[in-house]
Amino acid sequence: MEVGYVYDPIYLKHDTGEHVENAGRLEAIIRRLEETGLKQQLTPVKPRLASVEELLLVHQRQHISRIQDVAKKGGGWLDADTVMSPESYEVALYAAGGTIMATEAVMGGKVGSAFALVRPPGHHATPRRAMGFCLFNNIAIATEYALAKYKLERILIIDFDVHHGNGTQEVFYTRPEVVYISTHEYPFYPGTGSVEETGSGEAKGATVNIPLPAGCGDSEYLEVFDQIIVPAAKRCRPQLILVSAGYDAHWADGIAMMQVSVSGFRQMVRIIKGLADELCGGRLVFSLEGGYHLNALAASVKATFDVLLGNASIDDPLGQSPRSFRAPKIDSLIRAIKEIHKLP
Ligand SMILES: [Zn+2]
Repeated sequence: MEVGYVYDPIYLKHDTGEHVENAGRLEAIIRRLEETGLKQQLTPVKPRLASVEELLLVHQRQHISRIQDVAKKGGGWLDADTVMSPESYEVALYAAGGTIMATEAVMGGKVGSAFALVRPPGHHATPRRAMGFCLFNNIAIATEYALAKYKLERILIIDFDVHHGNGTQEVFYTRPEVVYISTHEYPFYPGTGSVEETGSGEAKGATVNIPLPAGCGDSEYLEVFDQIIVPAAKRCRPQLILVSAGYDAHWADGIAMMQVSVSGFRQMVRIIKGLADELCGGRLVFSLEGGYHLNALAASVKATFDVLLGNASIDDPLGQSPRSFRAPKIDSLIRAIKEIHKLP
């Protein structure tokens, strides 16, 4: 099956100045896809603006108006981490719309799987506020869109960004039709994502948090995938899998303290693809979240596409982490999560 990608130069116009979340990230990814010839193997999917009605599936009208107002007034800082330029409102609509179109391409059968290479990222944005570099919650909006348009009953979101997707968790915390699984460094920004946060009401158990101590690398992440994510995904029996794909758990990424390599991301994506093939006819949509070391980010996104395409090549220019300390022990954490979620 064909593999789609969403990209448009419009995404470079969210001008954040010297911020770590800047246009250079997408430029590095696209350059890598072009230089390696990978881009020709992919099917372009055109993004569009998300409509206000689509944003309202997730966000309060007041929040949408505020982002629009700040853009009109020339941009500015929304909090200590999150900055906007005059174009950012429009670009953020394209980021949400790009993730919708990636989902649309997969659900409509135009491609087997797709990756929305968009910015600003989304998973920290809550119904009522922007935070953590995120304006609108792209993955949550695409999820709501797919639930409504295709009358889906079960969607799985896997979030392997190094930060907890507090916004996504909040949107679906009481919604049994969406299972949200997140691996993240903990304790760390934004502070949420403890083992005990499991959803509420009918959705008790539909939020699966895997808060990992700093220093985890490929083997710890793969253990978590094997022991928790795979059985939780199988129990969910999703009709579609969406992925908040952040690559800031890479060992070279200065924003966090994890030790994952490009090969580690490749293996995680291979497991996710296997789940999609087994559980939902391969229907799989990635949306870009974090990842701030340009070489690690570009190589990891390329590795993701290689897995989706079924390419055998292993291209890890950065290699394994040079970590000089002992990996943290996570056995008891895994046991605790399995017990809370009654996983086999
Ligand atoms: Zn992140």
